[in-house]
Amino acid sequence: MPRTTLPNPRLTPRFAGLSTFARYPRLEDVTPENRPIDWLIFGVPYDSGVTYRPGARFAPRAIRDASHYVKAFHLEHNIDVPATLSLADAGDAPVKPYHPKENLEGVASWATDLPHPAHTKLLALGGDHSIAYANLKATWQRRGQPKGGLAVVHFDSHLDTVDAVWDEKWGHASPFRRAIEDGLIDPKAMLSIGLKGPLNAATDLDFARQKGVTVISDTQFRIDGPRRVADFLNSIASRETYVTFDIDCIDPAFAPGTGTPCVGGFSSNEALAILRSLRGLNIVGGDVVEVLPDRDPAGITAFLAAHIAFEILALSAISTRA
Ligand code: MN
Ligand code: MN
Repeated sequence: MPRTTLPNPRLTPRFAGLSTFARYPRLEDVTPENRPIDWLIFGVPYDSGVTYRPGARFAPRAIRDASHYVKAFHLEHNIDVPATLSLADAGDAPVKPYHPKENLEGVASWATDLPHPAHTKLLALGGDHSIAYANLKATWQRRGQPKGGLAVVHFDSHLDTVDAVWDEKWGHASPFRRAIEDGLIDPKAMLSIGLKGPLNAATDLDFARQKGVTVISDTQFRIDGPRRVADFLNSIASRETYVTFDIDCIDPAFAPGTGTPCVGGFSSNEALAILRSLRGLNIVGGDVVEVLPDRDPAGITAFLAAHIAFEILALSAISTRA
């Protein structure tokens, strides 16, 4: 029996029915045989943490709509993802658009309380990148508050380790600084990949460097990226790892719908190849963030984001099968 009950696309068209991520069942519709659920996908329709263009609050709906054409069988990994994993859509977390810190506390608390904390992993669809803090906190708590924090693989044009912007410490430029300070993640087991300039100042790199974050800039990736990624994977081995994917690491020529765009960057294909190279990673949580539907006229950014979420689930499916 497949672990996830899906409508048969040869009988029920992909464009029909209520909109859930990849047509996975709603949390409340999952049958007892398919519990405990392996991964819950949920939206965080929140963008009050942005420093430039707002609009990512509309991304969970856009990504869900785009995801209806995400099919089940992963060709390169040779695995049927929803047949291998029990997957469901938990809807959207409650948000507080006028209160950045209270918003993160509320989302973290709601996500922490989702069913079967020791078993069920959480994949958040942003929203701006500030929401990563909330899902990191929930994941850390659900994994039993591992001492030293979780390992992290972070895709982004930015390091997101700024102390404060406009006197606000909980915006989308700061989630990993707060997560490091709070012990949710281990900076020495964190990889940030895709950094691009220009920066506001050379000192923007200081915090990550001092804490021992491994940074592979977009330019470095083109020289010896796969080897550097492999070295990092060897260094963290089987540690529990959170994958956070800011869509702005993709060249805006491929993913224009984002709030703080940076020219250059990974093509869609390069990003998929990097994600697929993470085979064997022990993924315990993740997010895909910073999609801005209003700047995404052909829907290609949301469509890519939906597939990136699927790639993260596929990595988990391989580990389940192995
Ligand atoms: Mn970011
Ligand atoms: Mn970014």
